[in-house]
Amino acid sequence: MKWGFLLSFVVMIGFAQDAEPGSVYRDSSQSVEARVDDLLSQMTLAEKIGQMTQIDAGRLMGQDQWDRGPLNEDWLEIVFADNHVGSILSGGGVAPTSNTPEAWIEMTNALQDAALAASRLGIPYIHGVDAVHGHNNLLGATIYPHNIGLGASWNPELVEELAAATSADVRAVGNHWNFAPVADVARDARWGRFYESFSEDPYLTSELVAASVRGVQASGEVAATVKHFAGYGESATGFDRSPAFLDVRSLRNTHLPSFTAAIDAGAQTMMVNSGSVNGVPVHASPYMLQDVAQEQLGFAGVIISDWEDISKLVNVHQVAADFKDAVAMSINAGVDMYMVPHDVETFTSTLTELVEEGTVSEERIDEAVGKILALKFELGLFENPKTDVDAADDVIEEERALAKKAALESLTLLEKGNLPFDDSVQNILVLGPSADSIPNQMGGWTIGWQGIDNADELPPGLTVLEALEENAPDGVSIEHLTTYQDAEAVEAAASEADAVVVVVGETPYAEGEGNSDTLALSEDQLTLLRTLSDTDTPVAAVLMAGRPLIIPNDIWLGLDSLIMAYLPGSEGGTAIADVLYGEANPSGKLPFSWPAHTGQLPLTYDVMPGGVYEPLYEFGYGLSYTDFSQQNVTADLVGDSVNVSVDVENTGEMAGSDIVQVYVSRPPSGVLTPIRQLVGFARVALEPGETQSVEIDIPTERFKVIPGDVLGDAEPELLPGSYTLDIGGTQAQVEIGSE
Ligand code: BGC
Ligand code: BGC
Repeated sequence: MKWGFLLSFVVMIGFAQDAEPGSVYRDSSQSVEARVDDLLSQMTLAEKIGQMTQIDAGRLMGQDQWDRGPLNEDWLEIVFADNHVGSILSGGGVAPTSNTPEAWIEMTNALQDAALAASRLGIPYIHGVDAVHGHNNLLGATIYPHNIGLGASWNPELVEELAAATSADVRAVGNHWNFAPVADVARDARWGRFYESFSEDPYLTSELVAASVRGVQASGEVAATVKHFAGYGESATGFDRSPAFLDVRSLRNTHLPSFTAAIDAGAQTMMVNSGSVNGVPVHASPYMLQDVAQEQLGFAGVIISDWEDISKLVNVHQVAADFKDAVAMSINAGVDMYMVPHDVETFTSTLTELVEEGTVSEERIDEAVGKILALKFELGLFENPKTDVDAADDVIEEERALAKKAALESLTLLEKGNLPFDDSVQNILVLGPSADSIPNQMGGWTIGWQGIDNADELPPGLTVLEALEENAPDGVSIEHLTTYQDAEAVEAAASEADAVVVVVGETPYAEGEGNSDTLALSEDQLTLLRTLSDTDTPVAAVLMAGRPLIIPNDIWLGLDSLIMAYLPGSEGGTAIADVLYGEANPSGKLPFSWPAHTGQLPLTYDVMPGGVYEPLYEFGYGLSYTDFSQQNVTADLVGDSVNVSVDVENTGEMAGSDIVQVYVSRPPSGVLTPIRQLVGFARVALEPGETQSVEIDIPTERFKVIPGDVLGDAEPELLPGSYTLDIGGTQAQVEIGSE
């Protein structure tokens, strides 16, 4: 393959006549290929296997692997000198004891010193983090909404900007690699990682994932990871890492497009799905990692395992007899780097043994290591292995305005009621467990893996209560009731208020710990909502949650206004206050379908004919304080694209943004196709009375179907016939002839 044995051999002969044999890799004017081949040709097997090994920073800190102490000299020695490890990660919640940018830079520089000192050839280490909504492990960094909220913004430019801003923080503290974006589609709200995905829809997800990859990698100094390849968002039980059974047609139509988009956008690395698909763990699937990822989708970058997943081939999936068997399966299937993350020696010695006995070939090792070294060269790590301490100043509380824009564009108005508050609202009662909670506002993957669990370690930001107080118009008073479990106190306080703002939802969680088989609000919150809906005071409910929650009918009918806030981050409180006070107009549209009952799950809008779709709120739904009309809809086939044009007018009194959504219904084609499927969208901001003509180009590529019988392995085809496009409720027909 690219860095194969033959090629290095040829290049080595070339170097023999070179003036500085063996130092080509140090010369940044050489091509990445030449540098890789030169370096690879000088490395021992042990050094190569070290490059394929990733260890959690927690292992190197303190005594125990979960400690947060100073770097441990003995472990530095074991990791870098004895095992030649080439990569470190800071998993969820892993940070230096004093979690400041300065301490991060000190730590990453010290790790780099140790790596370089231990490496005979001077190979720098690479440091990965999960900066999935801002640099969320770093205290003081601005926290952005989680992806599901960004999905509601339907705004790729915004996502790109956020990703670039995050990357700047990541690189400033000495990290070079972001395990983001998540490209999994959020197909089932029971999943504990629903909020890490942008949407249930493959096309919306693809557009936002591609934007995120461009943003993460914009500076050229941070690599993105598209994860988790593939089929992770739709397990059979809805739970994290439980087996998925996806017919190949659905896998290709629904789960692969966002990975294709990320690869086309240049994603340098890919992380593997921890689960299994159709009876094979993806970590052990040559079909998924070679045939699909590399051959069909053309991915040529580093494939990294997820956390401890080679071991899990033995102790979870039970497909390998022992660890040795598992390592062989996984490395031969296509995993280039193993996120170990703690027991370094067992992995390196096992892989060494496998190579020595020929079960894993040296070509395979060279291929994997070649990709890893290429990544390090591409990121400029050989030239700039360390980080300037002055960069620390740029990290804390940066980009608050961008965070606010993101929170505002995500907020989704589901029921308008008496919003925004007018002058008659003078006394506002604020209550509910999330009204004054930074942890709930941020969700999981914030400071800690399972969210904030230390009241002394709070990221910047105002809660809803604080923001309502701080921004209250003259004469408006805010009362906060902390004893919201006391029904009598709630009734009494509500009867004295002109309006109630109740903020309810979920406490933080991540991964499997966030699985839910009820999607229920806690009992005390249900009681609170029932009590409030029985009063005469108008109730504005704000939901802070990583997914749709089931709202019992009696409660739902008793609420006047309902805002879905998702997990809005640092500026969530301020954005919500602005919307309540009418300083801002909500424009988010649901990136998922809101189930009426858990028995409907999994529930997505792209149902097939014969399916049932009766959600509480549809995919793409969301209200505004103003009114829009979409008129003069046309759709014309021009070459390989359908050119959609629509005039959007703001017919109301307030500036606002609308989102034009275009759905296709295909002609009969021998296989089932979704009754309607999103193929284009545009966000448009309009002043009152303003009209804009919006043009959307939709490549007919998006209309293709995978023809043929149930195997679903044929090439996608554009079938002739009459296509119906639905643009904001208006239909237009497009005839597509035979190819
Ligand atoms: C998650 C990944 C994450 C990794 C490192 C795993 O448990 O599945 O998304 O990148 O941990 O923190
Ligand atoms: C890590 C996560 C990882 C999890 C797995 C946590 O401590 O930070 O990234 O997914 O452990 O158990």
